[in-house]
Amino acid sequence: MYDVVVVGTGPAGAAAAYVLAKSGKTVAIADKRTLPRSKVCGGLITSHCVEEIENLFGVGIPPDVHVEPPVLTERVIPPSGRRNGFHNPSNQIHNVDRSRFDLWMTSLAVEEGADLLSSHQLAGIEETSDGVVARFQTENGSLELETFCLVGADGVYSTCRRRLFGESTQRTISVVQEYYEDGAVFEDSFYLLFRGDISPIYSYVVPKDGHSVLGLGVHKALGPPADLAFTRLREWLKEEFDYEPGRPVRREGWSIPFGEVAYGTGRALLVGDSGGFCEPFTGEGIFFGVLSAKAAATAILAANGNEEIANLYETMAAPIGQKVTEISEYVLSLTDEERERRIAAKKNKLGQQLGVLAVA
Ligand SMILES: Cc1cc2nc3c(=O)[nH]c(=O)nc-3n(C[C@H](O)[C@H](O)[C@H](O)COP(=O)(O)OP(=O)(O)OC[C@H]3O[C@@H](n4cnc5c(N)ncnc54)[C@H](O)[C@@H]3O)c2cc1C
Repeated sequence: MYDVVVVGTGPAGAAAAYVLAKSGKTVAIADKRTLPRSKVCGGLITSHCVEEIENLFGVGIPPDVHVEPPVLTERVIPPSGRRNGFHNPSNQIHNVDRSRFDLWMTSLAVEEGADLLSSHQLAGIEETSDGVVARFQTENGSLELETFCLVGADGVYSTCRRRLFGESTQRTISVVQEYYEDGAVFEDSFYLLFRGDISPIYSYVVPKDGHSVLGLGVHKALGPPADLAFTRLREWLKEEFDYEPGRPVRREGWSIPFGEVAYGTGRALLVGDSGGFCEPFTGEGIFFGVLSAKAAATAILAANGNEEIANLYETMAAPIGQKVTEISEYVLSLTDEERERRIAAKKNKLGQQLGVLAVA
């Protein structure tokens, strides 16, 4: 019997497994896939997330996890265009390869003693008087693991969440990315572009390993379909940057949670995307995944046999959950005027902090 079974080797699962194993708990971390595995993601780690990771793991993100260019600054563009946007050189955003990043984080948990169970797909959860029984499908059949506590970190389409709360509790929005093989012609920056007729949340450009990655949030009820949104984004990039990318070499998409937080029940906790912990305005999920995992691990360590660990976790993670919910409601009410006002306010504040600010 394990003290804790963590399901999912993304940033949230790896962070929870690391903290618990380092604190002396017996931990299994299981994933339906085998690391290194791909994950649809921009692979951008903001400076506050880098700081959180360094504090949690006691080491920095290693150079071989980064891609070119390894560090990006932030450029924000409002609906009225880049002359009213800003460049924030103080936000140093790490540009990583997600498959190598997740492998690195999970390796740190394994070094602390966590057992890594690859090709273990969670199929069911049963809460018992002693804890939780997790049922996995493996390459050789099936396996049941008994555990005092289960941490569900199995992403936005979480089996853990569906087993605990039913099929329809996760509200989502899609994020779609196109890769252009253009030698990465933009500055070494993460460009965040806000215009409601392109995306209800945001669109972006990221230089990555010789490519420009164009991305945007798509929601069928709140904005245009992906093809129209990309046409408008490319037209806007032509106007603003004289950028004409040709044909994409790859298009990919996946969902992110959109403001519907669930903490878990009894001794089964949900962290990261599976719990809905993702910033709905910018799509930043790695930071919220790590924060929620840290709260879950802290609740488990503090529980001392308390059966209602989920209640304790909810108390600890409530500020993160409330922030996610509030931001999602704010995003739903956003107009281009409000986007303009918000970015102008941020530009002014940064201008006071940094002296002079260049346009984006
Ligand atoms: C296009 C796009 C761009 C993004 N860009 C960024 C970005 O630049 N920065 C950022 O911070 N966030 C970004 N995000 C969000 C970010 O990718 C997620 O929020 C983050 O990966 C969540 O981490 P997680 O550990 O909760 O889950 P995940 O990283 O999704 O990991 C879940 C793991 O669970 C495993 N799993 C799933 N089901 C089962 C099962 N039944 N049994 C066993 N294992 C299972 C999966 O194989 C996977 O390894 C982006 C998202 C998208 C879609």
